[in-house]
Amino acid sequence: MHTPLASTGEAVVLLDDLDVERQRSYLESRYLAIDTETMGLKTRRDRLCLVQMCNEAGLITLVQTRSYQAPRLKAVLESNRVEKIAHFARFDMAAVRHWLGVEMTPVFCTKIASRLARTFTDRHGLKDLAAELLGVEMNKEQQSSDWAADTLTDRQIAYASSDVIHLVALKERLEAMLQREGRLELALACMRFLPHRTALDLAGWEEEDIFAHH
Ligand code: MN
Repeated sequence: MHTPLASTGEAVVLLDDLDVERQRSYLESRYLAIDTETMGLKTRRDRLCLVQMCNEAGLITLVQTRSYQAPRLKAVLESNRVEKIAHFARFDMAAVRHWLGVEMTPVFCTKIASRLARTFTDRHGLKDLAAELLGVEMNKEQQSSDWAADTLTDRQIAYASSDVIHLVALKERLEAMLQREGRLELALACMRFLPHRTALDLAGWEEEDIFAHH
């Protein structure tokens, strides 16, 4: 069940887009873990700086987005044949939709999966999941840094990579828990709704729960 990372190599940092070989590798992958780094938390104000990705074979790429012309990256992000995995996918999907103009689907969100499967806790951060489900300690110290820098530091590269290398394994663990709890279909339905949730965020309903009575 658990797919070990074949060999997690060094992350390659590319400017503006994937190269042809990496695009091909990712298009042939079953899973692609995705994370993004931005200038801040407001999608329309804070530009997308970096898109990190890692497939089930452990091939890691960090794309510095500057021109937002990234045809190869966009094709991978919107490929129906590659399941994207993200933690709190709602944020990454909004950033990708607003800055690159593509819908990042299909997507599995490890945060939604955790919220629906792990009701014994309110700790659903990526660091919490990695520690509990994989026994991995993650270092979050570079979380707030200047992701628009021309040259990323080794620590930024290590941090940005660590945010994607555990997602395939986490997805498999969480999927098994959801199955065990009889909530897999509900979780997958919530994930299929994410493009609409993201559209609501970008249209001005980001703070409102439109399902709430009040
Ligand atoms: Mn991150």
